[in-house]
Amino acid sequence: MTIITAATVSLVDLEVETVRTDAVQSFVKQETIFVAISTSEGLEGTGYSYTIGTGGLSVVALLRESLLPMLLGRDSRDVEAIWRTVHDTTHATTVGAITSLALAAIDTALWDLKCLRAEQPLWRMAGGYRNSVPLYDTEGGWLQLTEDELVAGALKSRSNGWGGVKLKVGKPTVVEDASRLRAVRDAVGPDFDIMVDANQSMTSAEAIRRAAAFADVDLTWFEEPLPADDVSGHARLAQSTSIPIAVGESIYSIGQFRDYLQRDAAHVIQTDVARIGGITPWLKVAHMAEAFNVVVCPHFLMEIHVSLVAAIPNGRYVEYIPQLRAITNDEIRIVDGRALAPETPGLGISWNLDSIDDRRVA
Ligand code: MG
Repeated sequence: MTIITAATVSLVDLEVETVRTDAVQSFVKQETIFVAISTSEGLEGTGYSYTIGTGGLSVVALLRESLLPMLLGRDSRDVEAIWRTVHDTTHATTVGAITSLALAAIDTALWDLKCLRAEQPLWRMAGGYRNSVPLYDTEGGWLQLTEDELVAGALKSRSNGWGGVKLKVGKPTVVEDASRLRAVRDAVGPDFDIMVDANQSMTSAEAIRRAAAFADVDLTWFEEPLPADDVSGHARLAQSTSIPIAVGESIYSIGQFRDYLQRDAAHVIQTDVARIGGITPWLKVAHMAEAFNVVVCPHFLMEIHVSLVAAIPNGRYVEYIPQLRAITNDEIRIVDGRALAPETPGLGISWNLDSIDDRRVA
């Protein structure tokens, strides 16, 4: 039987694997929220979610006190129904980051169960488009790195066979940002993708100005130039530049993605499976983007996003930021600049349970 008999939550702190600073913040630690769901057939699904340093205990409390108890006795196959029940029961705190992160931990556990029961990998259960996806590198592009370090990182990524690099922008002056981008472009040549990311640090006017200053670098996208709730600002920017606009890592509802797409304010969609509330809504956003002929390049969480990008026809890139090595038994396999979607049944992440136990803080 497929009835949920137990559901538990735990919190694991992970040190960042490298210093990661952008125009607004630093990645302090990865608070990883795990949800384990057991069923009467003897299966256990593991789901997870995360923060980059604050709020993890709040997600755990919401799950433990309010959300997990309502799963008991439900049929674990009813993934949509359970998602809707949890969402509607927390209506007063939805749409909200804490609730979405909690929902994602539940939903990914249910998808793990679904895949385990079918003995299929996630990339096939979620759609099954292709078994490998191109990678681009973010680890060599952080804002605290020097221009020489950016160039060295980009050259290394190119020699690895990866499709491109992402560089943080938002230095105090336009000249400094433009100089860093120009140095990387001159080093890697024309046939290599360069993306930039401002992490919501700019006003619309400043983003329009910087986009103009960056125009001759040939950028693949300009990511989070403005605060994520400023849809009209993004629409204005999009009309002023030929650089594609990328958003999504700070969006917590399907409806806000619809607004961006309808207003032609985003050309690359970066839905984060944890922040949108799990695989169930992630796929809806991806398919909606396909209807607008827009590509999906999700934010962070490459260990699960590789399977989701592989599931859909409009997936373009997976972002290389390894962060789970301390608590997993293996890594994503990379061949010729492409990440291979795991073929093992379930989410495809081999958790190291001993390491998780060692790092458990709640
Ligand atoms: Mg970003």
